[in-house]
Amino acid sequence: MQKDILDSSLYAAIVINTPLNKVFHYLVPLAMHDKITIGKRVRVYFGKRKLIGFCVGFSNQIDYDITKVKPIVEIIDENPLLSSDMLAWTNWISNYYGCAWGQVLDSALPSAVKKRKRPLKKKLPPELSAEIVKEKNQNLILNLHQNTAVKSIISAVNQQKYKTFLLHGVTGSGKTEVYIKAIEEVVKIGKQAIVLVPEIALTPQTVKRFASRFENIAVMHSDLTTAQRANEWQQVYQNNADVIIGARSCIFAPTSRLGIIIIDEEHETSFKQDEAPRYHARDCAIKRAYQENAIVVLGSATPSLESFYNAQIGKYTLLELPERVSHRPLPKVNIIDMREQFKQFKRMTIISKPLEDAMHKVLMRNEQIILFLNRRGYATSANCPQCGYTAKCKACEVSLTYHKREDKLICHYCGFSIMAPNNCPDCFLPGIKFSGYGTQRVEEAVKMLFPDKTVTRIDSDITIKRNRCEEILNDFGSGNIDILIGTQMIAKGLDFANVTLVGVIAADGALHLPDFRASEKTFSLVSQVAGRAGRGEKGGSVIVQATLPDHYSIKCVATHDYISFAKNELETRKLFSYPPFSRLLRVVVRGPNEDKTRAFIKDIHNKINALDVVKRGVLLDFTPCPIAKLRTDFRFHFVFKSPGVSIIQQIINEYSDILKSKSDMYVAVDVDPISML
Ligand code: ADP
Ligand code: ZN
Repeated sequence: MQKDILDSSLYAAIVINTPLNKVFHYLVPLAMHDKITIGKRVRVYFGKRKLIGFCVGFSNQIDYDITKVKPIVEIIDENPLLSSDMLAWTNWISNYYGCAWGQVLDSALPSAVKKRKRPLKKKLPPELSAEIVKEKNQNLILNLHQNTAVKSIISAVNQQKYKTFLLHGVTGSGKTEVYIKAIEEVVKIGKQAIVLVPEIALTPQTVKRFASRFENIAVMHSDLTTAQRANEWQQVYQNNADVIIGARSCIFAPTSRLGIIIIDEEHETSFKQDEAPRYHARDCAIKRAYQENAIVVLGSATPSLESFYNAQIGKYTLLELPERVSHRPLPKVNIIDMREQFKQFKRMTIISKPLEDAMHKVLMRNEQIILFLNRRGYATSANCPQCGYTAKCKACEVSLTYHKREDKLICHYCGFSIMAPNNCPDCFLPGIKFSGYGTQRVEEAVKMLFPDKTVTRIDSDITIKRNRCEEILNDFGSGNIDILIGTQMIAKGLDFANVTLVGVIAADGALHLPDFRASEKTFSLVSQVAGRAGRGEKGGSVIVQATLPDHYSIKCVATHDYISFAKNELETRKLFSYPPFSRLLRVVVRGPNEDKTRAFIKDIHNKINALDVVKRGVLLDFTPCPIAKLRTDFRFHFVFKSPGVSIIQQIINEYSDILKSKSDMYVAVDVDPISML
């Protein structure tokens, strides 16, 4: 009798959002037997707390003391929130990146969906219900290159077998049009498309283009309210959306008939999440498409070296759009050697003479200008020339940036701010000197040079105000602004025909960073910015100011030569065994006590070093991170260069105990890291 009851016992495997990468077992009470299914959420006791978990599987037996197994308290969902495909895929993500499955599942759902039980009414986000630009060119005739690309993609779509394409097209070559035509086909055969863009608030034009071409579209927007985000999610969940467009986390969209995933600007680093789970949306997309027999299109004018290499070795199929649409030429790029300018004028100039002259000419013709500098604020440092004092953040190991309007010194990492001192806080003498420059100072200089022109700055100090970014871009689009000055916010996606001059103020500002991707990031950012010029019939030009004009990442921008850049860069990567010729694991340890944190990483490093598998790769020494202190925590890191990802997986999964956080010290495990700071 007793045995019979035991045999008919049903246990559910439950994943709970804890840092432990573990599945817990609970007894399913008889009354719940016909209601419980995989993918539904349940409420369970976890210690003394009641927590929510996902049901991921069942068994009739478990191999520990059944008297200690607790029953499920409640089943939350009427229908499963996640399909078995989604569960398998999120489990893969957790193993690949060495993070808890529960954390991945938690990221997969918008917070409002997690809290609410009932579906919400449909309400379009404001930017879509607002008047949509119906692009005069709804039915463009594709050019030869676009046509070839679309045909290849459509043929793969119809075969319904996994395949990844790398669409390498210069800026303004009509990549977006290729995506749209391919998606039209996908929708025709009753399937869905996910479109990932780097940061949706920065690419309103792209979103509007999609919105004007497809009927059933859902937008996952970082600027949406939590309720709006939940609405959009529900639209997808209830099978009402054919096209889902959004940033990184949109890869978790609960589609049931996925046909294609488009990743626009696939090289963008924002596709990698820099907190746990540290997933890369591109790589997760490829895995998801593989599982669901879907197609992936990675698009970029400057593909990541990883993707370029994968295309070279045949993992991806390369599609090329080597020309701009309507045979428009790429803009002519002039590089200005700022060392020469310094010699000539005996002082540091922000706007070089050739740039100033070019600006005059363009403004006389009533055309528009974009100036780019990837540093906000007024001056990048405040020092005392008397005693050598430098203003630094108390919580972070970084210099404070001077913001003139507020007359404050601000930490760009933690937000700490103080009023700018008149006298040196160390030696009390007057004469604090502000050096280096950011967008505020460029704005000031430009207004001085062109007092009767409308000059507007756009950076994250300005766009803290909701919708301000869109307002400025709309103003610029309607010609109310002559000169737009901005950070990387203006580097992507903007398509304004009247912009005939782009000036890059300090192109090589990031080249010295201790990051093996510094050249790649410089090349792609400067190329993208340059690509904003001359997109209309009037053509255009670019002026790039640099102190290292001979560096190949700058020179190749001038010749629009991605291939030479990539070949050059690949040689360097090979020489030093960096990706794509190796896979990296980065371990960062942080804690409030410097000595303790150092001792802790030393211990971890020793233990990792003693593992047999580590001998198959190269374990680099541990050092303080380039940003050695952040928000009062001291930071140390080490990197393991592995010939393949399976060794990394073995380390982080089999020996995860070594990499566990301890008391107030936190261990971050980063597979395929993007940030090295
Ligand atoms: P990319 O995404 O490669 O930068 P876009 O898709 O934004 O390029 O295209 C650049 C511009 O050219 C857009 O204004 C677009 O509407 C237009 N365009 C795209 N394809 C064609 C075409 N075949 N004929 C004419 N104009 C086109
Ligand atoms: Zn700080």
